[in-house]
Amino acid sequence: MPVSLPPTTAPNAFGAPYVAPIREVAPGSPAERAGVAAGWSLVSVNEAWIPDVLAYRRELGAGRATLLACDPTGEASVSFDVDWEDPGLEFDEVIFDGLRLCANKCEFCYVHQMPRGFRKSLYVMDDDFRTSFLYGSFVTLTNLSDEDVQRVLDERLSPLYVSVHSADEELRAAMMKWLRPKVKDPRSTRIRDMIERLEPIDLYTQVVAQPGRNDGEALDATLAYLVSRPNVLAVAVVPVGLTEHRRNLPDLRGYRRDEAAALVTQVEDWQTRLLGERGSRTVFLSDEFYLVAGLPLPRSEAYEGFEMLENGVGMVRDFLADGLDLETLPAALETPKRVLCATGTLFAPVLREALEPLAAVRGLTLEVRGLVNRTFGATTTVAGLLAGRDLLTQVRPGEADLLLISPSMLKYGTELLLDDRTLSEVSAELGMEVAVGGGDLRELSLVILGGAVGDSTPQFGYSTHAVKEAAGQH
Ligand code: SF4
Repeated sequence: MPVSLPPTTAPNAFGAPYVAPIREVAPGSPAERAGVAAGWSLVSVNEAWIPDVLAYRRELGAGRATLLACDPTGEASVSFDVDWEDPGLEFDEVIFDGLRLCANKCEFCYVHQMPRGFRKSLYVMDDDFRTSFLYGSFVTLTNLSDEDVQRVLDERLSPLYVSVHSADEELRAAMMKWLRPKVKDPRSTRIRDMIERLEPIDLYTQVVAQPGRNDGEALDATLAYLVSRPNVLAVAVVPVGLTEHRRNLPDLRGYRRDEAAALVTQVEDWQTRLLGERGSRTVFLSDEFYLVAGLPLPRSEAYEGFEMLENGVGMVRDFLADGLDLETLPAALETPKRVLCATGTLFAPVLREALEPLAAVRGLTLEVRGLVNRTFGATTTVAGLLAGRDLLTQVRPGEADLLLISPSMLKYGTELLLDDRTLSEVSAELGMEVAVGGGDLRELSLVILGGAVGDSTPQFGYSTHAVKEAAGQH
């Protein structure tokens, strides 16, 4: 049940099709001096409706600007001028005219494989080039109009993050099955044409690989095309993500161990060649291929700055990179403690091995448990898609003093798990403290040993690009 987000509207006497709800007004700012308050809405800047924060910044970037804002009833309004000044407005959202939804029905779409009953935001099929620019979410570009392309070029919305999947137009069409009535300009469905029209724009691209579909020779052809384009900075190859909720959907399967190993060899051959030719590997593999293949992860340098971390490319290596600080490990804890680290089944063996030295600390009972995903099905092995119910069904009340989970299990910036349970609720039900681990192995070890509780930035057990729930957007 994919859902859509309507434009933001509020009563206004100006006939504006959408407005920008104001969350905060800075004290002493031009907006506050004009009488604007939190809860009001921005109607226009320089007499133009404002569809998103990018347009807002563009108008202000011209120097002098006239802003029009109205109160929540739409009855009162004020107009005020700024001249190279920040008006002092903070908005609830970054998109005001409605999020652009996708015009596709990809055979591997994660939204179509979501069980029912989660918060609506998880079913939003965001394919908005503006959120791609602002947050780095991958978009297909098949819903762009000619004006949109021109806007990207005029405003230099660079870089963008683009799902390519295949540079063979027919194969891409077969995999993505665009919904013709939703495609505004048929030209936008041709990926080569689009990449070439966007030549001044840097692109990070991804290929969601399916066994026997767009890998093998088809992947070679896609990579050959992508690395030939000057504006393609990098290509991430990630495996198709499948849940067990695929009734009435095409019959797809994930990578077997031998297939994952073959794909690693294939892409590493590309990396060796490209590194020699241009000084950059350019093509990068998601961690999942190495873990499924049972192969050692590349060294940190091989990720060249971890540019595609959010896509599961190098997350595990990044997490492990600094290792444990063995010299500062205590011989014993002052108070004995039982700690349980819960993560996805894919990452659990890696984490277990990495934390092995902590077994020498007397008084610490530590277990790393790979939780079977009973929400999406056992084929879903990443930590980021575990829900509160998976914790409650696979951790026994009172069996530990501290349960540590991956920050990737929480909605960004909140304590909400995928099924809207909070950490406090899980803690109360299980009768133990529940917290998130640290941003890397060293921080996690400090949390385990009794230091500060980690924040909710990067993660142990990696997330996946599959559920795109960016801050403040969905
Ligand atoms: S995978 Fe993305 S682009 Fe494809 S149908 Fe789903 S939401 Fe749309």
